[in-house]
Amino acid sequence: MSVLLSVRNLVVEYTTQGGSVRALDGTDLELMAGETLGVVGESGSGKSTLGAAIGRILPEGARRDSGDIVFGDVSVFGSSDSRIREMRRRDLGFVFQNPMTSLDPTMRVGRQVALALGGAAGRVEIEALLLKVGLPDGPQVSRSYPHQLSGGMAQRVAIAMAIARGPRLLIADEPTASLDTSVRDQILDLLLSLREQTGASLIILSHDLHMVAKHCDRVAVMYGGRIVEDGRSDAVFGRPRHPYTSALIDSAPGSEDPDGALRSIAGMPPVLWGRSDSCSFAPRCASANEACRTQRPVARELDGRLIVCGRAGEMPGPELPVPQAGEARP
Ligand code: ATP
Ligand code: MG
Repeated sequence: MSVLLSVRNLVVEYTTQGGSVRALDGTDLELMAGETLGVVGESGSGKSTLGAAIGRILPEGARRDSGDIVFGDVSVFGSSDSRIREMRRRDLGFVFQNPMTSLDPTMRVGRQVALALGGAAGRVEIEALLLKVGLPDGPQVSRSYPHQLSGGMAQRVAIAMAIARGPRLLIADEPTASLDTSVRDQILDLLLSLREQTGASLIILSHDLHMVAKHCDRVAVMYGGRIVEDGRSDAVFGRPRHPYTSALIDSAPGSEDPDGALRSIAGMPPVLWGRSDSCSFAPRCASANEACRTQRPVARELDGRLIVCGRAGEMPGPELPVPQAGEARP
Protein backbone atom coordinates (compact mmCIF):
# COMPACT_ATOMS: atom_id res chain seq x y z
CA MET A 1 0.00 0.00 0.00
CA SER A 2 1.24 3.46 -0.82
CA VAL A 3 0.93 6.59 1.26
CA LEU A 4 -1.87 8.78 -0.11
CA LEU A 5 -1.86 11.55 2.45
CA SER A 6 0.67 12.84 4.87
CA VAL A 7 -0.06 15.58 7.41
CA ARG A 8 3.21 16.93 8.75
CA ASN A 9 3.49 18.91 11.94
CA LEU A 10 0.56 21.05 10.88
CA VAL A 11 -0.30 24.15 12.90
CA VAL A 12 -3.55 26.02 12.19
CA GLU A 13 -4.86 28.95 14.21
CA TYR A 14 -8.10 30.92 14.26
CA THR A 15 -8.03 34.65 14.83
CA THR A 16 -10.60 35.49 17.49
CA GLN A 17 -11.33 38.60 19.54
CA GLY A 18 -9.53 37.02 22.48
CA GLY A 19 -6.41 36.16 20.44
CA SER A 20 -5.23 33.28 18.29
CA VAL A 21 -6.81 29.92 19.08
CA ARG A 22 -4.55 27.07 18.04
CA ALA A 23 -6.84 24.39 16.60
CA LEU A 24 -4.09 22.16 15.21
CA ASP A 25 -0.98 22.07 17.38
CA GLY A 26 1.46 20.10 15.27
CA THR A 27 -0.81 17.41 13.81
CA ASP A 28 0.92 14.39 12.26
CA LEU A 29 -1.00 11.75 10.33
CA GLU A 30 -0.48 9.36 7.45
CA LEU A 31 -3.13 7.66 5.36
CA MET A 32 -2.56 4.74 3.01
CA ALA A 33 -4.37 4.39 -0.31
CA GLY A 34 -7.61 2.45 0.17
CA GLU A 35 -7.65 2.81 3.94
CA THR A 36 -10.70 3.71 6.06
CA LEU A 37 -9.65 5.93 8.96
CA GLY A 38 -11.82 7.21 11.79
CA VAL A 39 -10.71 10.38 13.57
CA VAL A 40 -12.35 10.64 16.99
CA GLY A 41 -12.15 13.11 19.85
CA GLU A 42 -14.27 15.43 21.94
CA SER A 43 -15.78 18.61 20.60
CA GLY A 44 -13.06 21.18 19.85
CA SER A 45 -10.27 18.63 19.46
CA GLY A 46 -9.63 19.81 15.88
CA LYS A 47 -11.30 17.16 13.71
CA SER A 48 -13.15 19.52 11.36
CA THR A 49 -10.18 21.85 11.09
CA LEU A 50 -8.02 18.90 10.06
CA GLY A 51 -10.58 17.78 7.46
CA ALA A 52 -10.86 21.28 6.01
CA ALA A 53 -7.08 21.72 5.95
CA ILE A 54 -6.72 18.65 3.71
CA GLY A 55 -8.73 20.40 0.99
CA ARG A 56 -7.35 23.84 1.88
CA ILE A 57 -10.91 24.92 2.57
CA LEU A 58 -10.24 26.36 6.02
CA PRO A 59 -12.98 28.73 7.16
CA GLU A 60 -12.52 32.47 7.29
CA GLY A 61 -10.41 33.48 10.24
CA ALA A 62 -8.30 30.31 10.07
CA ARG A 63 -4.67 30.46 9.06
CA ARG A 64 -2.06 27.79 8.45
CA ASP A 65 0.87 28.78 10.61
CA SER A 66 3.40 26.05 9.79
CA GLY A 67 3.71 22.46 8.62
CA ASP A 68 2.15 21.05 5.48
CA ILE A 69 -0.02 18.32 4.02
CA VAL A 70 1.16 16.25 1.09
CA PHE A 71 -1.63 14.63 -0.92
CA GLY A 72 -0.28 12.28 -3.60
CA ASP A 73 2.57 14.46 -4.81
CA VAL A 74 0.86 17.79 -4.14
CA SER A 75 1.94 20.10 -1.33
CA VAL A 76 -1.41 21.43 -0.13
CA PHE A 77 -0.03 24.62 1.38
CA GLY A 78 2.83 25.04 -1.10
CA SER A 79 0.86 24.90 -4.36
CA SER A 80 -0.93 27.52 -6.43
CA ASP A 81 -4.67 28.12 -6.03
CA SER A 82 -5.37 26.62 -9.46
CA ARG A 83 -3.42 23.45 -8.63
CA ILE A 84 -5.39 23.04 -5.40
CA ARG A 85 -8.71 23.68 -7.15
CA GLU A 86 -7.83 20.94 -9.61
CA MET A 87 -6.85 18.58 -6.77
CA ARG A 88 -10.15 19.28 -4.99
CA ARG A 89 -12.20 18.76 -8.13
CA ARG A 90 -10.47 15.62 -9.26
CA ASP A 91 -9.22 13.82 -6.19
CA LEU A 92 -11.21 14.90 -3.13
CA GLY A 93 -14.82 14.47 -2.10
CA PHE A 94 -16.27 16.14 1.00
CA VAL A 95 -19.39 15.10 2.87
CA PHE A 96 -20.45 17.38 5.73
CA GLN A 97 -22.75 16.95 8.71
CA ASN A 98 -25.40 19.16 7.14
CA PRO A 99 -26.00 18.21 3.50
CA MET A 100 -27.17 21.78 2.81
CA THR A 101 -23.54 22.87 3.26
CA SER A 102 -22.77 21.18 -0.08
CA LEU A 103 -26.00 22.11 -1.91
CA ASP A 104 -27.04 25.40 -3.49
CA PRO A 105 -30.59 26.16 -2.28
CA THR A 106 -31.40 28.16 -5.43
CA MET A 107 -30.50 25.51 -8.02
CA ARG A 108 -32.34 22.35 -8.99
CA VAL A 109 -30.63 19.15 -7.89
CA GLY A 110 -30.13 17.85 -11.44
CA ARG A 111 -28.16 20.95 -12.45
CA GLN A 112 -25.96 20.71 -9.35
CA VAL A 113 -25.22 17.05 -9.97
CA ALA A 114 -24.43 17.85 -13.61
CA LEU A 115 -21.95 20.52 -12.49
CA ALA A 116 -20.33 18.06 -10.08
CA LEU A 117 -19.95 15.62 -12.97
CA GLY A 118 -18.21 18.27 -15.04
CA GLY A 119 -20.96 20.50 -16.43
CA ALA A 120 -21.69 18.72 -19.70
CA ALA A 121 -23.35 15.66 -18.13
CA GLY A 122 -26.73 14.68 -19.56
CA ARG A 123 -29.81 13.13 -18.00
CA VAL A 124 -28.62 9.56 -18.34
CA GLU A 125 -25.38 10.24 -16.53
CA ILE A 126 -27.08 12.28 -13.80
CA GLU A 127 -29.72 9.65 -13.19
CA ALA A 128 -27.16 6.83 -13.19
CA LEU A 129 -25.23 8.65 -10.47
CA LEU A 130 -28.39 9.27 -8.44
CA LEU A 131 -29.24 5.59 -8.75
CA LYS A 132 -25.78 4.71 -7.45
CA VAL A 133 -26.50 6.61 -4.22
CA GLY A 134 -29.88 4.93 -3.77
CA LEU A 135 -32.14 7.52 -5.42
CA PRO A 136 -33.99 5.52 -8.08
CA ASP A 137 -36.46 8.27 -9.03
CA GLY A 138 -33.86 10.32 -10.90
CA PRO A 139 -36.23 12.60 -12.89
CA GLN A 140 -38.18 13.57 -9.77
CA VAL A 141 -35.05 14.20 -7.66
CA SER A 142 -33.38 16.14 -10.49
CA ARG A 143 -36.34 18.51 -10.75
CA SER A 144 -36.37 19.18 -6.99
CA TYR A 145 -34.78 22.02 -5.09
CA PRO A 146 -32.71 20.87 -2.10
CA HIS A 147 -35.30 22.01 0.49
CA GLN A 148 -37.86 19.69 -1.12
CA LEU A 149 -35.77 16.64 -0.18
CA SER A 150 -35.67 14.84 3.17
CA GLY A 151 -32.42 15.08 5.14
CA GLY A 152 -31.45 11.55 4.13
CA MET A 153 -32.15 12.19 0.45
CA ALA A 154 -30.23 15.48 0.53
CA GLN A 155 -27.26 13.68 2.10
CA ARG A 156 -27.44 11.07 -0.68
CA VAL A 157 -27.30 13.89 -3.24
CA ALA A 158 -24.34 15.44 -1.41
CA ILE A 159 -22.60 12.05 -1.49
CA ALA A 160 -23.37 11.70 -5.21
CA MET A 161 -21.69 15.06 -5.81
CA ALA A 162 -18.72 14.08 -3.66
CA ILE A 163 -18.08 10.88 -5.64
CA ALA A 164 -19.04 12.28 -9.06
CA ARG A 165 -15.49 12.46 -10.35
CA GLY A 166 -14.16 9.32 -8.72
CA PRO A 167 -12.10 10.93 -5.94
CA ARG A 168 -9.12 9.19 -4.41
CA LEU A 169 -10.11 10.40 -0.95
CA LEU A 170 -13.50 10.96 0.67
CA ILE A 171 -13.60 13.09 3.81
CA ALA A 172 -16.83 12.73 5.78
CA ASP A 173 -17.24 15.13 8.71
CA GLU A 174 -19.94 13.72 11.03
CA PRO A 175 -21.81 12.51 7.93
CA THR A 176 -24.79 11.11 9.82
CA ALA A 177 -25.01 13.35 12.89
CA SER A 178 -27.75 15.62 11.50
CA LEU A 179 -29.92 12.75 10.26
CA ASP A 180 -32.77 10.80 11.85
CA THR A 181 -31.45 7.69 13.56
CA SER A 182 -33.58 5.61 11.17
CA VAL A 183 -31.49 6.66 8.13
CA ARG A 184 -28.06 6.95 9.76
CA ASP A 185 -27.06 3.35 9.12
CA GLN A 186 -28.24 3.53 5.52
CA ILE A 187 -26.12 6.60 4.81
CA LEU A 188 -23.10 5.08 6.52
CA ASP A 189 -23.55 1.81 4.61
CA LEU A 190 -23.80 3.80 1.40
CA LEU A 191 -20.52 5.63 2.10
CA LEU A 192 -18.73 2.42 3.01
CA SER A 193 -20.00 0.49 0.00
CA LEU A 194 -19.10 3.33 -2.39
CA ARG A 195 -15.65 3.41 -0.86
CA GLU A 196 -15.33 -0.30 -1.44
CA GLN A 197 -16.57 -0.11 -5.03
CA THR A 198 -14.30 2.77 -5.97
CA GLY A 199 -11.20 1.82 -3.96
CA ALA A 200 -11.06 5.37 -2.59
CA SER A 201 -9.72 6.07 0.87
CA LEU A 202 -12.15 7.35 3.47
CA ILE A 203 -11.63 9.57 6.49
CA ILE A 204 -14.59 9.76 8.86
CA LEU A 205 -14.41 12.54 11.45
CA SER A 206 -16.78 11.56 14.22
CA HIS A 207 -17.77 11.46 17.87
CA ASP A 208 -19.18 8.00 17.39
CA LEU A 209 -16.67 5.49 18.76
CA HIS A 210 -18.90 2.48 18.14
CA MET A 211 -19.27 3.33 14.48
CA VAL A 212 -15.53 3.86 14.08
CA ALA A 213 -14.70 0.66 15.98
CA LYS A 214 -17.05 -1.28 13.76
CA HIS A 215 -16.30 0.18 10.35
CA CYS A 216 -12.85 1.77 10.25
CA ASP A 217 -9.60 -0.16 9.74
CA ARG A 218 -7.72 2.42 11.71
CA VAL A 219 -8.50 5.02 14.32
CA ALA A 220 -6.71 8.26 15.16
CA VAL A 221 -7.63 9.77 18.53
CA MET A 222 -7.36 13.54 18.58
CA TYR A 223 -6.87 15.77 21.59
CA GLY A 224 -5.83 19.41 21.76
CA GLY A 225 -5.06 19.54 18.03
CA ARG A 226 -2.75 16.53 18.01
CA ILE A 227 -3.22 12.87 17.20
CA VAL A 228 -2.47 11.21 20.53
CA GLU A 229 -3.06 7.56 19.65
CA ASP A 230 -3.13 6.07 16.17
CA GLY A 231 -3.38 2.43 15.25
CA ARG A 232 -5.56 -0.43 14.08
CA SER A 233 -9.09 -0.03 15.45
CA ASP A 234 -9.20 -3.49 17.03
CA ALA A 235 -5.89 -2.87 18.82
CA VAL A 236 -6.69 0.67 20.00
CA PHE A 237 -10.25 -0.08 21.13
CA GLY A 238 -9.29 -3.49 22.49
CA ARG A 239 -6.35 -2.21 24.49
CA PRO A 240 -6.14 1.58 24.58
CA ARG A 241 -2.72 2.79 25.72
CA HIS A 242 -3.34 6.52 25.96
CA PRO A 243 -5.21 7.56 29.14
CA TYR A 244 -7.36 9.87 27.01
CA THR A 245 -8.42 7.02 24.71
CA SER A 246 -9.41 4.96 27.77
CA ALA A 247 -11.38 7.88 29.18
CA LEU A 248 -13.11 8.46 25.84
CA ILE A 249 -14.13 4.80 25.59
CA ASP A 250 -15.35 4.88 29.20
CA SER A 251 -17.51 7.93 28.49
CA ALA A 252 -19.10 6.53 25.30
CA PRO A 253 -22.70 5.33 25.26
CA GLY A 254 -22.62 1.62 25.96
CA SER A 255 -20.13 2.06 28.83
CA GLU A 256 -22.63 3.44 31.35
CA ASP A 257 -22.33 2.74 35.07
CA PRO A 258 -24.39 -0.18 36.38
CA ASP A 259 -27.08 2.35 37.37
CA GLY A 260 -27.28 3.51 33.74
CA ALA A 261 -25.47 6.84 34.20
CA LEU A 262 -23.14 8.01 31.46
CA ARG A 263 -19.66 8.68 32.74
CA SER A 264 -18.02 11.89 31.63
CA ILE A 265 -14.36 12.84 31.49
CA ALA A 266 -13.69 15.19 34.39
CA GLY A 267 -12.53 18.66 33.39
CA MET A 268 -12.81 20.44 30.08
CA PRO A 269 -10.99 20.02 26.77
CA PRO A 270 -8.36 22.74 26.35
CA VAL A 271 -8.56 25.88 24.26
CA LEU A 272 -4.97 26.48 23.22
CA TRP A 273 -3.72 30.05 22.94
CA GLY A 274 -0.37 28.95 21.57
CA ARG A 275 1.92 25.96 21.27
CA SER A 276 1.37 23.49 24.05
CA ASP A 277 4.62 22.99 25.97
CA SER A 278 3.23 20.17 28.07
CA CYS A 279 0.78 17.34 27.59
CA SER A 280 -2.59 19.03 26.91
CA PHE A 281 -4.37 16.16 28.64
CA ALA A 282 -2.26 16.36 31.84
CA PRO A 283 -4.75 18.57 33.76
CA ARG A 284 -7.42 15.85 33.33
CA CYS A 285 -5.19 12.78 33.56
CA ALA A 286 -5.01 10.68 36.73
CA SER A 287 -1.63 9.29 35.64
CA ALA A 288 0.06 12.64 34.93
CA ASN A 289 3.36 13.35 36.65
CA GLU A 290 5.63 16.39 36.75
CA ALA A 291 7.16 15.64 33.35
CA CYS A 292 3.69 15.51 31.77
CA ARG A 293 3.02 19.00 33.12
CA THR A 294 6.29 20.49 31.91
CA GLN A 295 7.34 18.65 28.75
CA ARG A 296 5.66 18.37 25.39
CA PRO A 297 5.30 14.64 24.69
CA VAL A 298 6.63 13.30 21.38
CA ALA A 299 5.19 10.53 19.24
CA ARG A 300 6.62 7.05 19.64
CA GLU A 301 5.69 3.51 18.77
CA LEU A 302 4.13 1.28 21.38
CA ASP A 303 2.21 -1.95 20.93
CA GLY A 304 2.05 -1.52 17.15
CA ARG A 305 0.59 1.97 17.27
CA LEU A 306 1.76 5.56 17.52
CA ILE A 307 1.25 7.22 20.84
CA VAL A 308 1.85 10.71 22.21
CA CYS A 309 2.06 10.16 25.96
CA GLY A 310 5.09 10.27 28.20
CA ARG A 311 3.67 7.63 30.53
CA ALA A 312 2.05 5.05 28.27
CA GLY A 313 4.00 1.84 28.55
CA GLU A 314 4.82 2.45 32.21
CA MET A 315 1.20 1.80 33.12
CA PRO A 316 -0.47 -1.51 32.37
CA GLY A 317 -3.20 -0.82 29.80
CA PRO A 318 -6.57 -2.40 30.47
CA GLU A 319 -7.63 -5.25 28.19
CA LEU A 320 -11.03 -4.30 26.87
CA PRO A 321 -13.42 -6.05 24.53
CA VAL A 322 -13.92 -4.04 21.34
CA PRO A 323 -17.12 -2.01 21.87
CA GLN A 324 -20.04 -3.00 19.67
CA ALA A 325 -22.88 -0.66 18.77
CA GLY A 326 -25.52 -0.62 21.48
CA GLU A 327 -23.66 -3.09 23.64
CA ALA A 328 -22.68 -2.25 27.20
CA ARG A 329 -19.17 -3.18 28.18
CA PRO A 330 -19.07 -5.78 30.92
P1 ATP B 1 -16.71 19.23 17.00
O1 ATP B 1 -16.68 17.80 17.47
O2 ATP B 1 -17.51 20.12 17.92
O3 ATP B 1 -17.12 19.35 15.56
P2 ATP B 1 -13.95 19.50 16.22
O4 ATP B 1 -13.16 18.39 16.78
O5 ATP B 1 -14.40 19.41 14.81
O6 ATP B 1 -15.21 19.77 17.16
P3 ATP B 1 -12.86 22.07 15.48
O7 ATP B 1 -14.17 22.60 15.03
O8 ATP B 1 -11.86 21.75 14.45
O9 ATP B 1 -13.06 20.81 16.43
O10 ATP B 1 -12.26 23.14 16.50
C1 ATP B 1 -10.93 23.11 17.00
C2 ATP B 1 -10.67 24.37 17.81
O11 ATP B 1 -10.76 25.51 16.96
C3 ATP B 1 -11.65 24.62 18.94
O12 ATP B 1 -10.95 25.20 20.03
C4 ATP B 1 -12.62 25.61 18.35
O13 ATP B 1 -13.18 26.42 19.33
C5 ATP B 1 -11.73 26.42 17.41
N1 ATP B 1 -12.49 26.90 16.25
C6 ATP B 1 -13.09 26.14 15.30
N2 ATP B 1 -13.69 26.90 14.37
C7 ATP B 1 -13.47 28.18 14.73
C8 ATP B 1 -13.82 29.45 14.16
N3 ATP B 1 -14.52 29.54 13.02
N4 ATP B 1 -13.41 30.55 14.82
C9 ATP B 1 -12.69 30.48 15.96
N5 ATP B 1 -12.31 29.32 16.54
C10 ATP B 1 -12.70 28.19 15.94
MG1 MG C 1 -16.25 19.26 13.88
